[in-house]
Amino acid sequence: MLASIVGINWGDEGKGRMVDLLSKDYDIVCRYQGGNNAGHTVINERGKFILNLLPSGILREGVVCVMGPGMVIDIRHLAGEIARLREAGISVSPENLKISDRAVITMPYHVQQDCLEEARLADKKFGSTRRGIAFVYADKYQKKAFRMGELLHPERLKKRLPDIVEWKNLTIVNAYGAEPVKVEDMEAYFEEYGAPLKDYICDVGLYLNEANAAGKKILLEAQLGALRDLDYGIYPYTSSSNNIAAYGPIGAGVPNLKLDKTIGIMKAYSSCVGEGPFTAEYFGEKAEKLRNAGGEYGAATGRPRRVGPFDAVASKYGIRCQGADEIALTKLDILSGHEELEICTGYELEGKVLKEFPFTDVLDDCKPVFEKVKGWNCDISACRRAEDLPREALDYIRLLEKLCDCKIRYVSVGAERDAYIEQ
Ligand code: GDP
Repeated sequence: MLASIVGINWGDEGKGRMVDLLSKDYDIVCRYQGGNNAGHTVINERGKFILNLLPSGILREGVVCVMGPGMVIDIRHLAGEIARLREAGISVSPENLKISDRAVITMPYHVQQDCLEEARLADKKFGSTRRGIAFVYADKYQKKAFRMGELLHPERLKKRLPDIVEWKNLTIVNAYGAEPVKVEDMEAYFEEYGAPLKDYICDVGLYLNEANAAGKKILLEAQLGALRDLDYGIYPYTSSSNNIAAYGPIGAGVPNLKLDKTIGIMKAYSSCVGEGPFTAEYFGEKAEKLRNAGGEYGAATGRPRRVGPFDAVASKYGIRCQGADEIALTKLDILSGHEELEICTGYELEGKVLKEFPFTDVLDDCKPVFEKVKGWNCDISACRRAEDLPREALDYIRLLEKLCDCKIRYVSVGAERDAYIEQ
């Protein structure tokens, strides 16, 4: 059984929190794309954890975590993440963590290139997280990247390294005028952060296929959301990988397996980090209030997120891109305490109201159409059954289901593991 948990919006929907909850029903959790450019925040009885690279299933005993071939792995960052978990008493060993030999290694020069490029762009910058992600994926497609499996063959790796460094310096030195990358520094990087990972590296596709044949349940975990997908998101303000569920089996190492179920994580309001069109955006005091209520500051970077009301146009598109079978609606508790709530139900463009999400460039000229619905004035964070919710909150959920043509199965009313309603 192969299922996936994916983001419907711009990311930060609370995927980590839902993986942490739903992984109780799975044997294996696998991340299939992206790197340490976003963070999942998980709060459970063992504490509060921010995970950038490791699948959120790492916090559950008995669950095996896999980092798939679609990922880019900053091995220095991974070392830090593993060390922090161990300090908190979470075990991380080759028994519960398998890293794909085909996953690509993010090098220090990718991070450096990212910073140099953002500095060059100055006020035209894209709002990169400066974790080198675009540059490492670019190198992957140029066939100039290093893969985790190469760490198992250090002699061959050593032979390949000087050519790659020479090529990289053509850009670092000649284009940006920065100090050249040194071969010996990269050797030291592999030795310090790569060598300790040797026992974790394997053919995860083989592992997952055998597990699947043995009847194990596998959950794929996405990073970011549909609107940040490289091909289907708000390009060029996207991430550099495909987070859509259809890519899941490929990025996980099991292109031969089909998804049995896709659970889309959708937030009860909108948030977006960095640059790019965000039609339903709130500004000023309204934005500040929602941002503070929702604690909308980036898990990886601490950046304040842009916020707005629920966007039915973008969410419907996100659900379509993800092929979501069911939805988990998160952070509904954040909307408590309002007489009225707004929902973006259309985009106005040249006198017409669009109901379908348009091509990115058109978004710049779109104005949001907001509709008002009744809010609820009580705290809903202790509700555990749909019947416990105030009428207005239930109506809000039903309206979202109708606008997005989807079934909302889970409603999350708090960050803690058990703060949810299944309906
Ligand atoms: P992810 O990248 O999709 O996993 O999302 P993030 O971790 O960046 O953001 C979700 C944040 O909201 C985290 O701090 C969670 O602890 C928190 N969170 C998740 N679900 C809920 C919820 O239903 N209510 C509240 N109040 N917080 C939530």
